[in-house]
Amino acid sequence: MSVSKVKTITCPKCGGTGDFTVYNSINTKEDPELADKLKDMTLFEYKCPHCGALVFVEYGLLYHNVEKGVMIYYVRNDADAEKAVELFRGKENTAAEELKGRYIYRVVRSYRQLKEKIMIFDENMDDRVMELAKLLYLTKFQVEYPALVPEIKESYVYGSEGEYQVAFRTKEGEVSTDFNMQDYEDMDGRFEYLLKPIRRSGDIIVDQNWAMDLVHYKEGEE
Ligand SMILES: [Zn+2]
Repeated sequence: MSVSKVKTITCPKCGGTGDFTVYNSINTKEDPELADKLKDMTLFEYKCPHCGALVFVEYGLLYHNVEKGVMIYYVRNDADAEKAVELFRGKENTAAEELKGRYIYRVVRSYRQLKEKIMIFDENMDDRVMELAKLLYLTKFQVEYPALVPEIKESYVYGSEGEYQVAFRTKEGEVSTDFNMQDYEDMDGRFEYLLKPIRRSGDIIVDQNWAMDLVHYKEGEE
C-alpha cells in the first residue's frame, strides 16, 4: 500500500495555495505509475492551479519493490537516517524465519542515490560491487582532474541495459564518463570472498565510505 497525506502548498510566484499529495511510501506492485513518477522525479512537481507555475517539492520516502524484495528509505537528514537504519535493523532481526534473507534494506541520503539504487536492483546488479567499481573511476578522475578532487562529494552510475555512465558531482558541475561493465565484473571477482550474500549481509548504508572501508580492510589483510 502506498501511504500518502495532503499538504497545502503556497505558490512562490503568485502566493495562491493548493493541495499537493505527499507519499510516505511507494509500493511498486500496487502503484507502478507512482514508481514511474518517482523515477522521473515528476512525483515532486507541484503545478500551481492559479498561475500554472511549476514548484519542485522534494521530500523523503520509502520505496518498496515487492517483486525484487527491496526497500530503500530516502531520508533528508541525519536524525531520519538513524531512525530508518534502526527500523530496518529491527525488521531484519524480528522477521519470521521464512522471511529472513528475503529483503535488501538500504538507507540513502540523496535522490540521486535513490535513483541509482533503484536502477541497480531493477537490473539485478549488486550495489556493493557497484560502489567498489566506482572507486576505480574516482581514482582515475582524481588523476585526470586533480584540481577538482576536494570538491567531489558523490558519484552516480546511470543508464540502462548494460550501457552505463558514471557521473561525478563537483562544485563546477558534473563530469561524466562511460562506465565499463568489465570493471564491475572485476570488482565482483576481487571482493567476492569478502561479500556475504546480499540479503543476509546486514549492510544498510552502502555508499562511497562503505566501499572505502572495505578496500582498506582488504589492504590491511594483505
Ligand atoms: Zn501560482
